[in-house]
Amino acid sequence: MSHATAGFQKISRHDNLFQERVHDAYKARAKPHEPTVCPQCGAVFHEGRWQWLTAPEGAHSETCPACHRIHDQFPAGFLSMKGEFLQSHRDEIMHLLHNHEKRERAEHPLKRIMAVEEKEGETLVTTTDIHLARGMGEALHHAYQGELEYHYNPEQNLLRVNWEH
Ligand SMILES: [Zn+2]
Repeated sequence: MSHATAGFQKISRHDNLFQERVHDAYKARAKPHEPTVCPQCGAVFHEGRWQWLTAPEGAHSETCPACHRIHDQFPAGFLSMKGEFLQSHRDEIMHLLHNHEKRERAEHPLKRIMAVEEKEGETLVTTTDIHLARGMGEALHHAYQGELEYHYNPEQNLLRVNWEH
């Protein structure tokens, strides 16, 4: 996963710059006509954003940015977790993360967990949206403390969140 490491720079957790100066190929396409329904997940583009609505008669059809990323296997957010606390509280931690995602996704169809991978003592959770990865990192830190770091790739609008505990 070379795109997960190249071009990242460490940023402050309180740095809001990356929320605004984004170049996101998945969101920079022309805005869909309204209303448009995503044939994969059923989200509807309405009033300038993707929402969970019933698709109106005659809606246009276009894949939403989250389903695009899932199809391309190209996450926007990477939450990497390590440490003894993680190992001994894994179920509780994963439960917290999935609950966080469920709440966010209910409001924002583009915020989803893509995959959870385990390798060599690291648990990697990938997401369709950088703000979801950031929010999950904040939720972990709020619940359990530990070390939290953000690395941002402004070229591609990717965020890597490292949590160690
Ligand atoms: Zn979709």
